[in-house]
Amino acid sequence: MAEPSTAPISSSPELDPRAREPTLRPLTADDTLVHPASPPHEPSPAAPKTEPVKEAPPSDSEVQPLPIPIARLVSKLKKSAKLFEEGKKRIPNSSSSLIRVASYDPVPPFIARAKGARIWDEDDNEYLDFNLAYGVLINGHAPSEQVKAIQETVQFGLHFASPTALEIDVARHFQKLVPNAERVAFCSNGSDATMNAIRIARAVTGKDAILKFEGHYHGQHDLALISAEAPPVVAGLDEYPRPLPNSAGIPPGVTDYVMVAPFNSVVSFERMVRRYRDRLAAVILEPVMANAGVIPPAPEFLKRLVEIAHENDMLVIFDEVFTGFRVAPGGAQQLYSVQPDISCWAKALGGGVPVSAVSGKAEYMDLIAPGRISFGGTYFANNLSMAGTLANLRMLHRGGEELYARFGRLTAKLEKGLEEAARDAKISVLVQSVNGMLQFFFTRRKKIVNYRESLQIDWNLFLRNAQLLLDKGIYIHPDNYERITFSSAHSEKDVEHFVSVATETFKELRTLPRDYLP
Ligand code: PLP
Repeated sequence: MAEPSTAPISSSPELDPRAREPTLRPLTADDTLVHPASPPHEPSPAAPKTEPVKEAPPSDSEVQPLPIPIARLVSKLKKSAKLFEEGKKRIPNSSSSLIRVASYDPVPPFIARAKGARIWDEDDNEYLDFNLAYGVLINGHAPSEQVKAIQETVQFGLHFASPTALEIDVARHFQKLVPNAERVAFCSNGSDATMNAIRIARAVTGKDAILKFEGHYHGQHDLALISAEAPPVVAGLDEYPRPLPNSAGIPPGVTDYVMVAPFNSVVSFERMVRRYRDRLAAVILEPVMANAGVIPPAPEFLKRLVEIAHENDMLVIFDEVFTGFRVAPGGAQQLYSVQPDISCWAKALGGGVPVSAVSGKAEYMDLIAPGRISFGGTYFANNLSMAGTLANLRMLHRGGEELYARFGRLTAKLEKGLEEAARDAKISVLVQSVNGMLQFFFTRRKKIVNYRESLQIDWNLFLRNAQLLLDKGIYIHPDNYERITFSSAHSEKDVEHFVSVATETFKELRTLPRDYLP
């Protein structure tokens, strides 16, 4: 790696954002930003341009009945429906995080309480939870040991915003589980971690751009929200994806700093790196792609990626926000025996408390210093998060190899069960998994290796199936790009129950009137 440099990132006028004309325009109600593969659950908000013609209300015989799965849920989710409407008057979409409401039809269940592998909604419906707060709850809901540790700590103060002995203790336990973490710094969520990791890489290399893979999600900051999803009609050829912002409000100039490649292709990656090596500070990736279902890395892909990046003076950032403490205690880097330079962690690190971390080699991390690389936040490493994280890591450490072998067994059992259920129902289903995380797709494909291939799935059928599962007490996210996860609170019996319910729902999908299916 070249000598650390603090040289300005670029003096070229076309890369200088100040040299640009302002190109953002205000967002209007006519603009819709929908997931490329999402079905239109509701009428588009685009208002008709002409006065609507007043029509007589439809007679009873003309009213379309609700699709069967939705009709069943409507009667079960009465309180949730009421809260959803009430919430919309106060909180945009009735939720502070869009994914918690997007794709849910008719309404998301509003969860009131949870314990172990189970959750209960406001209408007191009970569900077996396989979403686990998007993979966070590696030890299940509210494990007594973790709750007790938090209670005992916070009675002495919720947060001091000073260095604490507790923070050092958490770092020590973190290092026991993540062998190459010479240094670790804590922050509050995954987006903080990837934003800081990218900044460190730019500062260390003195280069300004990053390379990412199409469909990989690294959080909500501007650089991360490029090509996290991308309608192929506007995103260029498979081999040369065009960087696209995924939200209104991201200045177009941001795409000058992000190169995009298809995941799992060494050839494409190497070509991009050779072409832009003078500008590329780092490659950032989800080592197991977890934001288009589950897409494992091709054999040797991660190893070659690290070699190619290092040959070209780039750092490698593993975004282990999803995979960390899940596929193995030390994340995908441990599972696949590869060594990134910087790693980002969140979700299963805290097991339910808001925490994230950036870890890496001391030679890079120790450049975090006044006047050099900035790193900080008011709530970083607060007592509540640190106490919860420490208890979570202790449980994982105690569980050791046997615990992760158990996650592997549960994953394999569900995979096999879903494949058999699909065969039984004569329906084409592909299941992809890595230890502790799994997703199934309604598709005739035998394999999905990158984002473009992941678009060739029957999104609507997955949603309908999720509704049928919910009605029968199995909670998975209705968005096919999320995934199913397991916790130490899940038993073999829970997985068997999921399989037996899916056996029914797959069969029922075949009997639904064609109108309800795509
Ligand atoms: N990176 C990955 C791989 C993620 O899955 C996520 C969130 O889902 C993030 C980053 C962002 O994390 P957060 O939502 O905690 O900001």
